[in-house]
Amino acid sequence: MGFIVKNTTILNPIDLIAPHTCRGCGIIGSPLCHCCKNNIILEHQNICPNCKSENPTGICPKCSYLPPIYTIADRDTTTGVLIHDLKYSSARAVAKILAGLADDILPNILGETTIVPLPTISQHIRERGFDHTMQIAKYLAKRRQNWIVRPIIERAHDTVQVGASESARLAQAKKAYKINPKYQIHKSTTYLLFDDVWTTGASMKSAHKILTTAGANKIVMLILAISRIKN
Ligand SMILES: [Zn+2]
Ligand SMILES: [Zn+2]
Repeated sequence: MGFIVKNTTILNPIDLIAPHTCRGCGIIGSPLCHCCKNNIILEHQNICPNCKSENPTGICPKCSYLPPIYTIADRDTTTGVLIHDLKYSSARAVAKILAGLADDILPNILGETTIVPLPTISQHIRERGFDHTMQIAKYLAKRRQNWIVRPIIERAHDTVQVGASESARLAQAKKAYKINPKYQIHKSTTYLLFDDVWTTGASMKSAHKILTTAGANKIVMLILAISRIKN
C-alpha cells in the first residue's frame, strides 16, 4: 500500500509523515492517538459555522432560521488534517476516527435518526475510490441505536465548487440537489444533515431547504470542520 498524495493537492509537510502517525503529536501508532483525541474533545467548543459565534447548545440565537448545528473544530486544526488525509490521501482508517469524534460531540437524539450525507461529486468518488462522507456516516450510525444512513439528497447534476466564488457557490448550490425519489420523508424522524467542511454553507443551506420543503420536521446539522477562509 503506497501513501498517495494526489498532484492536485497542495503538498503539506505533514503529508510526508507516515499515515499511521498521530496527526496531532507525531507519535507512531494511529492517525490520532488517545491523548490527542481526548484533547480535541476536552477543548471542544461548539461554534456556529454561519456567524462564527460560540454556540454551546447548537441552536444559534443569531441564526434562528437554521436548525441546530454541531461542529468539531476549525479546519486548520488536527481535525482538518484528518479530513484532508481521508479525502486526498485515501487514509480510509481515518473515517472511523472522525466518526468517533462526531459521536463524542453530538448530543443524544431521541427516536429514529437518519443521517443524510451531502452527496459527493461523482468525479471525486471515482478519483478517491470511495465516498468519504458516506464512510464516516456509516461508522457514525454504527455507534448509535436507531440511527441509519440514507442518501436522501442527491445531486441534480455534478458541479465543482472548489475555487468558485461565494456568489457562484450559492447560485450553484440552489440548483445542485434534489430529493432521491426512492425515499419517503417522515415527520417523526430526525434528519442529521452531514457534511465534512463548512466554507460558505451554501450546500448545507440548500440541502436544508430541500429537506424542509419535502416535509422533514426535525433537522439537525453536523459539520466536522469550519473553514474560516472565504473563497
Ligand atoms: Zn497524538
Ligand atoms: Zn450563528
